[in-house]
Amino acid sequence: MAPRVRFAPSPTGRLHVGNVRTALFAYLAARAAGGTFVLRIEDTDRRRYDPDALADIYDNLTWLGLRWDEGPGAGGPHAPYIQSERVAGHRAVAERLVASGHAYRCYCDAARLERVRATHNGYDRRCRNLTPEQRSRHEEGGAAPVIRFRVPLEGSTRYDDLLLGSIERRNSDINPDPVLLKSDGFPTYHLAAIADDHDMAISHVLRAQEWVSSAPLHLLIFAACGWQPPRYAHLPAVNGPDGKKLGKRHGATAVHEFRRRGILPEALVNYLALLGWSAGDDREFFSLAELERCFGIDRLGRAGAVFDHQKLEWFNGHYIRGLPPARLAVALRPYLRDAGIDVAEGAAETALAELLRERISVLDEAPARAAFLGPDRDLPAAELVPRRLTAAAAATILQQASPLLEHLPSGDGEHALEDRLRELARAQGVKFGDLMMTIRMATTGSKVSPPLFGSLRVLGEQRLHARLARALHTLQAAAEEA
Ligand code: GLU
Ligand code: ZN
Repeated sequence: MAPRVRFAPSPTGRLHVGNVRTALFAYLAARAAGGTFVLRIEDTDRRRYDPDALADIYDNLTWLGLRWDEGPGAGGPHAPYIQSERVAGHRAVAERLVASGHAYRCYCDAARLERVRATHNGYDRRCRNLTPEQRSRHEEGGAAPVIRFRVPLEGSTRYDDLLLGSIERRNSDINPDPVLLKSDGFPTYHLAAIADDHDMAISHVLRAQEWVSSAPLHLLIFAACGWQPPRYAHLPAVNGPDGKKLGKRHGATAVHEFRRRGILPEALVNYLALLGWSAGDDREFFSLAELERCFGIDRLGRAGAVFDHQKLEWFNGHYIRGLPPARLAVALRPYLRDAGIDVAEGAAETALAELLRERISVLDEAPARAAFLGPDRDLPAAELVPRRLTAAAAATILQQASPLLEHLPSGDGEHALEDRLRELARAQGVKFGDLMMTIRMATTGSKVSPPLFGSLRVLGEQRLHARLARALHTLQAAAEEA
């Protein structure tokens, strides 16, 4: 049967690379087997609910191309899958479990629970075996009960994790009698996730390894309900280079931060796919479409994966170079604009994209590389004279070179221009490098820039000659003073 796989994020914080790798693997597990990918928003914890986080989930999954077949916005038969809209069903499941004796009402107040937490490992099961009289006394007192799951005291629970193999836990080691339904009538994660996984006929659960210790409890609840559980695959953690769980101290971890910096979705998908999965050979580059064909749960690794920013940027550089320049130009627009760099849309910005594509691995590196396109400004003589030259020599160079730069050639024409500049250097008795440096400093305001002729073409002849004239003026004044 075609698998039904869900991604079930809680909208409590921005989607980070760990969540989104889980989403990617769940998506691929569904696609690769011709199954269904379900998005379910687990928002029953109303205190931690954050509407921005919800928008962030939709936005970033869409940006990455992880289209869901069922769930909010997908318009499927049961959509939208917003867990908080389903609490009536969750309550009914809790009541059924109370009726069948698999769950019970607990009337303990917060102060008491606080006290027993200190001396017991969690809850002390005080309400597990209340007599009907005790129960009605509590009910009359008006206490708002919670519903707890009755974890068996004996035996053990075992299952075969698709990734980790056989997992077995003594029932006496399971958290004593976790809450299924809170006193406000809202389900806890355990109840809501299980009821929904059943309702949505989920066949495979891929989720973070932090949930592996909850899996035996979940299987007990499935069994108590008389339901067939899904197969579980608990994915190894994504760690920082120091081996610790990826966190803020390792730099950016939120998807929106990568996106803002100019990581391309193709690069993030490709890189994340390899954090815990391999095709079985050394192949590194995969498009989403290719992954949809060749992904398999059986090729997931068990070892923790290390998130390496440099490797991600390396992938990103690869995908940047693969973009047609006109598309790269459009992608670069907001970054350049934010930095106050104005480039005319069309030929000029495409030429700039061609100049930058080999020189950036993240889009937000572009403004620094394109700084020469910033507003024209007066440069002091000190910034116009290369180390081995005088102001007078630099002035002469600019004067003589300006006519040669009247019409900027491209392609093979560049060689002819270069030859003429070499001749000029020889005639002036200066090194060709110093001559080029003089032109570079006057026209780009910097000792380093992308290749000079290409930069000048992007700058445009009008600005180029205005800058040459301005620099010449400064140098002549400095030469007279000297
Ligand atoms: N809402 C849970 C989370 O965001 C889902 C865990 C699960 O996949 O069962 O971690
Ligand atoms: Zn109690």
